[in-house]
Amino acid sequence: MGVVDCALADFFEEFLADCGITSPPVDPVKVAEHLGIHVCKEKKGRGRRGRAIGRLKLIYVTDEKNPAREKFSVCHEIVECLYPTLARKLASHFCEMPREELCDAIGAMILVPPCWFPRDYRECGGDLHQLMAIYQASGEVVLKRMVSDDPWTVVSVWDKGVRKQDLQDVRPVLPTEQLAQKRCHATRRTVEVSRNGFTSTAWSLFDRQRGWPRELVRTTHTEDDIPSYDSAFDDGPAIDGDFGEGYSS
Ligand SMILES: [Zn+2]
Repeated sequence: MGVVDCALADFFEEFLADCGITSPPVDPVKVAEHLGIHVCKEKKGRGRRGRAIGRLKLIYVTDEKNPAREKFSVCHEIVECLYPTLARKLASHFCEMPREELCDAIGAMILVPPCWFPRDYRECGGDLHQLMAIYQASGEVVLKRMVSDDPWTVVSVWDKGVRKQDLQDVRPVLPTEQLAQKRCHATRRTVEVSRNGFTSTAWSLFDRQRGWPRELVRTTHTEDDIPSYDSAFDDGPAIDGDFGEGYSS
C-alpha cells in the first residue's frame, strides 16, 4: 500500500490503545465508553443514522439491520461529539473538508485505523471481502480507506450496472474498470482485469437494504513505474481477465 501518513497512524494507534483496543475489529461502543460518551439506540433515526449531543456526551444511533453500518454511525457521531478537540486537532490532515465529510473521514479511521490497515491489506492481498471481515466494516468504508492510503488508487461503486458515485474527482471510467465491473455483475464473482499497467478488481456485494447486488471496483497500477492516466485508454493487447475465486453470500 502506498503513502501512509505516519503521524495519523501513530495517533490512532495511541488513541485506540488508550481505549484498550490493540487489534481489529474495533468496537466503537467501547471507544465511546472510554471517552465518557453514552451510546443510545433508537428504532427510528428521524431520517438520520445518528445524532450527537456533544455537551451531554450522548450519541443516538438508529438500530440498523446492518451492524457494519451501525458501527460506522457510532464512529461518525463520536467525532461529532469530540469535534471541538479531536476533529480540529486532526483537521490539517484532511485538507479543508466540510464538517460532515471530516467526521466521516475520521470516523472511518477509528473503524479501519491507518496503524493496522496497510499491514492487513498486504497480508490478504488487498481482498475486500477479507478486509471487511477483519474490520467488520462495510465495503464502502474499506474501499475508501484503500484510496486514502494510496493516492493513485481509484475506486467506484456500481448499482444495477450504473456507477453510483465516484469517490474521487469526476473522471471517465477506465476500460479495465468497466470490463471488471461488467464481468463481476454478470457472474457475481470477484473479477480481476489487467491492461496497459492497470489492474481493476471488482467485488460483488449484495446490498440487503436496497435488495440488489452492487459491484465495488478498485483500479491500481500494476507496475512500479506508475503509468499515466491517459495510457489506460491506449490500444493495447486485448483485455483478458481471470475470473477469480467464486464468491457468494
Ligand atoms: Zn454528522
